[in-house]
Amino acid sequence: MNRDARIYVAGHRGMVGSAIVRQLRASGYENLILRTSKELDLRDQQTTARFLAEERPEYVFLTAARVGGIVANSSYPAEFIHNNLLIQENIIHNSWKNGVKRLLFLGSTCIYPRLAPQPLKEEYLMSGPLEPTNDAYAVAKIAGIYQCRSYNRQYGTNYLAIMPNNLYGPGDNFDLETSHVLPALIRKFHEAKESEASTVTVWGSGSPLREFLQVDDLAEACLFLMNLDDDRFDTLLNDPVAPALINVGSGEELSIRDLALLVKEITGFDGELLFDRDKPDGTPRKLADLSRIHTLGWRHRTGLKEGIAAAYQWFLENGSGR
Ligand code: GDP
Repeated sequence: MNRDARIYVAGHRGMVGSAIVRQLRASGYENLILRTSKELDLRDQQTTARFLAEERPEYVFLTAARVGGIVANSSYPAEFIHNNLLIQENIIHNSWKNGVKRLLFLGSTCIYPRLAPQPLKEEYLMSGPLEPTNDAYAVAKIAGIYQCRSYNRQYGTNYLAIMPNNLYGPGDNFDLETSHVLPALIRKFHEAKESEASTVTVWGSGSPLREFLQVDDLAEACLFLMNLDDDRFDTLLNDPVAPALINVGSGEELSIRDLALLVKEITGFDGELLFDRDKPDGTPRKLADLSRIHTLGWRHRTGLKEGIAAAYQWFLENGSGR
């Protein structure tokens, strides 16, 4: 991307979109096209078509999405599939119509089958049944991957789907009902410490394994991929076993119990952990295979402990509101 390229970040108020905007600005990109969801409803076909025809971005980061943790996903599956299908269809189709040079579509490693071999290689997509707690979201994201692949194949576009592992960092959602595990634990342990409670309740058995990636590391990976030279970008798009798909993660995996112990230590809470087994565990493990991105020369920077400490600091300064 030239420094004066017209770059649209869809979803720039979200955790991922805002991290990409920070990274773009820090790298000297000034010509950013940004709209809040109030200014532009990406679920509306005509409004989105008009917007992209008028603004004609050259590069698109598609981070706008309905996202949430395990209970939000299993409680509102209709909203997750409806909103995500509409948003991605409107942006991907109109990016093609308006000659966007490159588009990155952001998904999640929950697209892989629940019991796929670990670590999860890109080629395992569609090789088995999905985890039921987030299958509606996953199907929407899989549709987005196939839309990118189909447009690349039929129309020669350059659209790449990026699947990050569990993300956390500044701008996260700390609402206990709808958030992912890490912001929920930061908030729960902090509030327990403040109120001098003796216990903190962790959902599920504590045994599922998860891998976490700090969101600024993901943003760096996104810029790295968007700026890949044509040869290497084309090789990714035309990969014979898993075209236009790449995992991004840290490789740092631990159990939810160990994660809770780490957050307990960082927040300085000194009570007990309780496990609420009426809440779902979700998929037992989802460790991303990172060979593809590592071979290209990208690795994450932020260690988990350091990243959680920074996220806790952000929470203390900004509270649970965005
Ligand atoms: P997932 O990675 O898609 O399953 O999404 P989450 O980040 O919501 O949950 C990850 C794991 O953490 C699941 O096994 C949850 O049961 C567990 N977990 C433990 N405590 C919490 C909590 O307070 N909130 C959330 N969202 N998950 C929790």
